[in-house]
This record gives sequence, structure tokens and C-alpha cells, in this order.
Amino acid sequence: MSTLGQQAGCKRRRLKKQYFLILLLVLFGTVFFVGKSYSFRELPSTPDEPSTTLELTDTPEPIATPKPIDTPEPIAIPEESGPKPEPPTEVESDKTALVTEENIPKKVVYLTFDDGPSKLTEQFLDVLQAHRVKATFFMQGSNLKKEYLQKSVRRAVQEGHYIGGHSVTHNYKTLYTDQQFVPEMIETLDLIHEITGTTPRLVRPPYGSAPGLKNEQMRKQLADAHIKVWDWTIDSYDWKLAGNPSQIVKNIKQGTTSDREIVLMHEKKQTLEVLPEILKFFKDQGYEFAVYNDAHHFVLNFQNDSEL
Ligand SMILES: [Zn+2]
Repeated sequence: MSTLGQQAGCKRRRLKKQYFLILLLVLFGTVFFVGKSYSFRELPSTPDEPSTTLELTDTPEPIATPKPIDTPEPIAIPEESGPKPEPPTEVESDKTALVTEENIPKKVVYLTFDDGPSKLTEQFLDVLQAHRVKATFFMQGSNLKKEYLQKSVRRAVQEGHYIGGHSVTHNYKTLYTDQQFVPEMIETLDLIHEITGTTPRLVRPPYGSAPGLKNEQMRKQLADAHIKVWDWTIDSYDWKLAGNPSQIVKNIKQGTTSDREIVLMHEKKQTLEVLPEILKFFKDQGYEFAVYNDAHHFVLNFQNDSEL
């Protein structure tokens, strides 16, 4: 009995051990499963968050960058901008070419010398030649008639200067009060033609067109005779500055205000003295020296007469 009882006790213990092992296995299994399910829950939740952030960062970056990169390229349209640059560059180069003619503040100065020809004409021409500058001379009939001065007049024309008329007598009363302005100018222009072979139509009124040419009838006579009248934009007052030539330069500098200036000077010793300085001033200011041309006349008279 005791052996039987012992055997039965052994069986129970074995069963207990087996149950215990099974329990352990079950427990371990559930712990493992639960742990795994937790880890699964965590895994998707963590990947979700990063994935959403990744997606966010990814989407903005790829979406934003590719689109801007893609769109800019198609928007910039290398294909369109390819053919476009060609016409623009042509147009731009054309514009710059046009700009030099129109818009680029092309400063122009017309140097004018009255009352010649004189014994100083040759020296004026020498200075101008040395600086390769062309000027406009308004010469007086009484001086043009002096044969010994006519060579200088011809030289001036040969060297590209313009010779216009400045009356015969230069007398205010005769010209304006006695209304000999037009006949005197015609005579002077004829003299210039005889001496040089040119046919100038431009004159400068002694003492200016104001008030001298306020008489409308005289101006009509001029227009009928196809004579143009030029005054000036800068008065150098050189004729009265024999003892103070530097003041001539100062006057010109002070008077220089616009891109197109017409400077009144005379064939005077003091003017000749400072002429190089005057040329340098305008060059430094970016002016180009221009000479009058009948074919490109522009109105410049104190009477504002568009016919002259
Ligand atoms: Zn004069």
C-alpha cells in the first residue's frame, strides 16, 4: 500500500510539476504576446508620428522643392527665354545704339566767334586745330572786304568751321533803326560766298536779336530771304574783359547749365588767351564740340521766332 501510495504521490508531484510548467509557459506566452502587442502598438504609433513628420518634412521638401524647381524652370521657361534673349539682346543693342543718339545726355557746345575776320583769326584757328575742335564764326562785311584777311576765312572753311554773317557795318542805328539789317546780311553772306564758295544762311545779329529784331516786318524779310538767325545761350562778356581774361572762363562756367550750349565770344586777344582753358572745361564736362550746319538748323533767337 505504501508503495502504491508512494507511486500515486509521485504521479501527483509530476502532474503538479507539469501543471506548473504549463502555467509558466502560458504566463510566459501571454507576457510575450502582450509585450509584443504593446510593442506593435508602439511601433506603428512611433512610426506614424515620425512618418507623419517625415511625410510632412518629406512632402513639403519634395513637393515644395520639386515644384518650385520644376515650376521655376518651366516658368522661367528656358525654352522661351532661350529664343527671347536673342531678340532682346538685338533690341537692347539697338536701343543702346539709339540711346547714344537720343537719350544719352549727349552734351553739345557750339563755340561761336563774332566780329572777324581779324588779325587774330589765324591764331584762333591754330588753337582750334590743335584741339581738333570745329567752331562757328560770324564775320563782319567790313572785315571780309579786307583782302589780307580773306586767306584766313578760306582756311577756316577748309578746316571745317562754319562762317556765318554778322552784318556789314555792325552799327545798331543803321541795322535796326534804319532797318538795314536784311540788306546788310544779304551782302555779308554774298561776300562769304565770294571768298569761300560756301552758301551760308545763318547770321548773328549784332547786339542780339532783342530788342533789335522786335520789328515783325524785318523778321518776315529775313524769312523771305531764307536767312536764319542765331543768338546764344551763354554770353562770355569777353569783349569787355581785356584786363581780366580769367573772368571770361568764369562767366562761361557759370553760364553752362544745359546739354546744349551756344557760347558767344569774339575774336579778342583775351579770348584767345583763355581759349584752351575753355576747351578743356567743356571737354571735362563731357561736351562734344559741334559746328553749325544749315541742314540741321534749330531755332535759337531771343524773339522766339520759329521762322528764323
Ligand atoms: Zn559783333
